[in-house]
Amino acid sequence: MKKIIQCSFCNNNKFKKRFNYTKPITREVKLNIDYKKYNRFYKSCTFCGHWYTEMKINLKDLYSGSYVASTYNNRLHDAFKKIISLPKNKSDNYHRVKRILNFSNSFFKNINKKKIKFLDIGSGLGVFPYEINKLGWDCTAIDPDKTACHHIQKKLGIKTKNIDFVKSRFDKKFNIITLNKVLEHVEEPIKMLKKIKDNLIKNNNFFYIEVPDATEASKLGKDREEFGIDHLHVFTLNSLYLLLKKSDFTPLSINRIRENSSKFTLTAFGKF
Ligand SMILES: [Zn+2]
Repeated sequence: MKKIIQCSFCNNNKFKKRFNYTKPITREVKLNIDYKKYNRFYKSCTFCGHWYTEMKINLKDLYSGSYVASTYNNRLHDAFKKIISLPKNKSDNYHRVKRILNFSNSFFKNINKKKIKFLDIGSGLGVFPYEINKLGWDCTAIDPDKTACHHIQKKLGIKTKNIDFVKSRFDKKFNIITLNKVLEHVEEPIKMLKKIKDNLIKNNNFFYIEVPDATEASKLGKDREEFGIDHLHVFTLNSLYLLLKKSDFTPLSINRIRENSSKFTLTAFGKF
């Protein structure tokens, strides 16, 4: 990640040094690097509060290779089954689906449910699109990880496309697009969010995003998964709002939540 000299959300050029890491946090994704030289830190924008990572470690090919497989130790389907069998009070996904379904019911007044075209970008294990598919929506999943896509397509029977959304063209259009815990992994979140415009059905769309919450998570210290090495960005309510505005979307609702998994998360709905 290149050194940030100006905040991409608010254009401020003053930063404050935050957490410094010389070893991985608990349960961090395993990388093929020299851990003796492990060094990274976050700095935050003094205006909008957004956290940026600064490090020499290169994550360039992390997601196209076997990110999901290595995160779940090659036991994708076992991990999937374990997560979908979690009771409601332990599941982040149950509440995520409920949030989106409730929003959709009030947003689309006269639409046949079966006709809702839905796209999830960065589906990983496919737990989320699996539940969405059960609603009867026309569901498609995208992930840069080949093993993950194979699992979603073959085992879950959901349409998938194995591409890196940032780098590729995808011609289909959708009523709803979701990006759950995706934008913190990409170098340029504004550029990525802008790109979904090409895939939204004009005047009949909304999108939903989830990102880690720096403000609340940092109160509990630095060994939290919100600050894992693969999180190049950690957001604040202000930077999330500015992300939507800078990507030329209309923010509809922005919220702060604490998930059942204990994650501090910010959610946003928007449209264009
Ligand atoms: Zn800023």
